[in-house]
Amino acid sequence: MDAAHVEQDLVNVLFTEAQIQERVGELAREIERDYEGEDVLIVGILRGAVMVMADMARSFSRHIEMDWMAVSSYGSGTKSSGVVRILKDLDTDISGRHVIVVDEIIDTGLTLSWLTSNLTSRNPASVEICTLLRKPEALAMPVDVKYVGWDIPNEFVVGYGLDYKERYRNLRDIGTLAPHVYS
Ligand code: IMP
Ligand code: MG
Repeated sequence: MDAAHVEQDLVNVLFTEAQIQERVGELAREIERDYEGEDVLIVGILRGAVMVMADMARSFSRHIEMDWMAVSSYGSGTKSSGVVRILKDLDTDISGRHVIVVDEIIDTGLTLSWLTSNLTSRNPASVEICTLLRKPEALAMPVDVKYVGWDIPNEFVVGYGLDYKERYRNLRDIGTLAPHVYS
């Protein structure tokens, strides 16, 4: 679905499909350079990271392995508390492996901060984070994010994997959701 199909639900289009494709490709090339000659496992966080993972994996011009995790963060309302439960764990043993966790957005950073220390305890060679979008609050977190597509304002965005009540994930672009949709 294109932004035109949900025009009334969006305040604006933040990033078009073409801009996203270009940026995801740039991130893949950056990772390729940084991990030259290394064996890399990219770990997507379900369900939001499905689109970034699919496009990023195909942007690599070398072999890359993919695995997935699903987590739910306990919290009141819409803010995560940092207390995380693993709903689906990795199928891969990551000890000695170079791991890059791929997510679509970091808001408070609490989920990824917890996840990073969980994965680090499994003795990987390294763990880094790659996120397409990052909101301002995450900058205050001690969690180190190596690859960021874009820093965005503190607004609720949808599309390209990002949902509001499970909708808009299949929107090709990323847009700011209009307040009338959630009020
Ligand atoms: P946090 O970094 O622990 O706060 O959690 C980030 C998660 O909150 C993301 O993986 C999304 O599922 C969700 N999230 C945060 N901001 C947005 C947004 O603007 N749109 C859609 N989902 C969001
Ligand atoms: Mg997510």
